Amino acid sequence: MGSNVVNLDERSSHAAIHYACMACAHDWNAAFPPTPDLSLECPQCHAPAGEPVALDDWDWFTRFMTGPNHDKRTLVLLNAARQARKNNPRT
Ligand SMILES: [Zn+2]
Repeated sequence: MGSNVVNLDERSSHAAIHYACMACAHDWNAAFPPTPDLSLECPQCHAPAGEPVALDDWDWFTRFMTGPNHDKRTLVLLNAARQARKNNPRT
């Protein structure tokens, strides 16, 4: 790698995490240093109900899917699965 090329992955202390609002199903990517189990305020409805999307967690999945707006919640999960495949194409 040339001396004027910077590998941003080596300099980044932040991670983008896919969040979904458990109240209204709005989803967004949040960039911040990794912190487990941190709930965020939803940028759409402002409920403190933003949780990291956890596709492999059955308890999270059932809590998320029991909320209102089932179609939007399904789209959030499809989007999360698409992002996971994009970030790790071997899975
Ligand atoms: Zn919300």
